[in-house]
Amino acid sequence: MKRLLLVVLMFLLVFVQTATASSDLAQRKEIIKQEFAEGDKIAKLTKNENAVAIMKFLHESAFIGQPIYNKNGRTVKFVEVGGKKDYYLCIVPLLKKDRGASKEWREAYDENLAAFHIPDPRQPLLVLKERSQFSGTWQGLILIHEGSHALAFAANVFNDIEDSLKRRTMDELYAYSLEAELAEKIGGQEYSKLIQEEVKRLEQGYRKNKEISIPDYPRYSARLDKIFGKSCSKLETGVRGSILWITAVFHVIEKNYKSPDEQQQRKADFLWSAYKNGNMQ
Ligand SMILES: [Zn+2]
Repeated sequence: MKRLLLVVLMFLLVFVQTATASSDLAQRKEIIKQEFAEGDKIAKLTKNENAVAIMKFLHESAFIGQPIYNKNGRTVKFVEVGGKKDYYLCIVPLLKKDRGASKEWREAYDENLAAFHIPDPRQPLLVLKERSQFSGTWQGLILIHEGSHALAFAANVFNDIEDSLKRRTMDELYAYSLEAELAEKIGGQEYSKLIQEEVKRLEQGYRKNKEISIPDYPRYSARLDKIFGKSCSKLETGVRGSILWITAVFHVIEKNYKSPDEQQQRKADFLWSAYKNGNMQ
């Protein structure tokens, strides 16, 4: 009798574990499905060929991974790889329970980032966090920004830049330029007005001492809500404000420097110092 009970209990345990694993997988799949749908919407709406290429790349190379414990940092277990692919990009939708996997994964979950690409040559990862903190449009924009890093890494776009800091900055310059361009297209005329207003504000300081004023999020947040729909969190308000600010800075640089090479250099320098000074959300 005791033995039978034990068998039943063991069976139940295995059953419960399998059930949890499959509901986890369903949740992870749902996060990917929903966020990819937002990225697709933006690619379709803007008809931007880089956004289209990034979304195509993500669909073709994505497979699902789940965080596991490993003393060497952020390791994953492949849960569903699907068919043969030209390139394998492991998408890791982070659930709250993954905080328990390891210190590194807990930090990844707690960090104030919506998504991030990990350029590990052994297996590149694209981590997506449960995204209740962002409205649909901004989920899509962030996915395309991170997808840009993933595609650039896969295609070795910035490989011939030897200096790693410079390589990273060019990678960011490309991703931010694209994100800014897409937001401008989606935001339409009202958004263009805000950008012009911000350009004016920045130009005042820039003329005086060649310095870029820091962002002023509260100044624009209500109008940004009107344009993009209500922001879902402080984090989202900060991201929207940062993109508006970056877009305006890029315009100020374009107005002040004629040569495309110099514009690119100035924009890269600006992004680098913004990161250093922590003006980036
Ligand atoms: Zn980036």
